[in-house]
Amino acid sequence: MRSLSLPYFIIGGGFNVLVGDGGFRGVAISLKELNGMESPSRGRIRAEAGATNQHLVNYATDKELTGLEFLSCIPGTVGGALSVNAGAHGRSMMEQVETLITMRDGRICENEGRKRNFGYRYLELEAGEIVVAAVFSLSEGKAEAIGEKLESYRRHRLESQKIGYPNAGSFFKNPEGRQAWRLIDEAGFRGFQVGGALVSQIHTNFLVNRGGASAADFITLAGMIKQKVLERNGIVLQEEVRILGEFEQK
Ligand SMILES: Cc1cc2nc3c(=O)[nH]c(=O)nc-3n(C[C@H](O)[C@H](O)[C@H](O)COP(=O)(O)OP(=O)(O)OC[C@H]3O[C@@H](n4cnc5c(N)ncnc54)[C@H](O)[C@@H]3O)c2cc1C
Repeated sequence: MRSLSLPYFIIGGGFNVLVGDGGFRGVAISLKELNGMESPSRGRIRAEAGATNQHLVNYATDKELTGLEFLSCIPGTVGGALSVNAGAHGRSMMEQVETLITMRDGRICENEGRKRNFGYRYLELEAGEIVVAAVFSLSEGKAEAIGEKLESYRRHRLESQKIGYPNAGSFFKNPEGRQAWRLIDEAGFRGFQVGGALVSQIHTNFLVNRGGASAADFITLAGMIKQKVLERNGIVLQEEVRILGEFEQK
């Protein structure tokens, strides 16, 4: 792709991306066929980027390994979750990674996970670096305790995020020490709508498609929220959703 000077991006499950109405003029590369999983030794799982999060959680559960239960309610692929350092319930993906395997300029690199620069919903990747797999180091667990944890996370999601419309999860990251949903709610946006894009009544950090929403509707709505929160709280909200492609000027 590089030698052809073609722009490209990697698409996992597509759960955390908003593509402009003008599309993306380049190549979208899916790694969904790269989805192997194995346990090279006790306590370790090597998962390839295209495997789904659910597959990884089920595999760990079958092996009675604990540490990845938080991932059970996060839709997407292992590669997508690693590259945004997805997390929930105070845990995140990269914390469990012993070795991160990436490809850059056609070369495979293996790095110790703890030596990579990562943080809240963030993993530093070099330009053009692609996550191809990771080795997770997990603790021994008991099937019953793992099952209970999975069930409590599932119930929590059902109660707090029964959204009912297509969405990309939380649209904004939580600013340090604050909750984005609360800032949005206090700014008066609960139920606010631009075109087909609506601030969910159930979870105000979820911007949902009520039907027929364009990407531009979401960008306009997100821009209004950012402006108001900046005026009220002096806080610049940052998108958690990855925005790419072309947006037509109106
Ligand atoms: C209902 C709902 C609930 C959600 N809850 C959570 C939550 O609790 N916590 C959370 O963190 N997220 C949550 N999300 C967001 C989303 O599920 C996660 O961010 C998930 O990890 C995205 O994975 P994906 O495979 O769909 O990645 P994509 O959306 O396809 O890609 C995300 C980004 O990663 C890049 N990427 C993907 N694969 C690779 C790769 N192999 N190498 C390099 N870059 C790559 C893409 O180019 C893009 O920039 C939620 C989403 C929904 C819809």
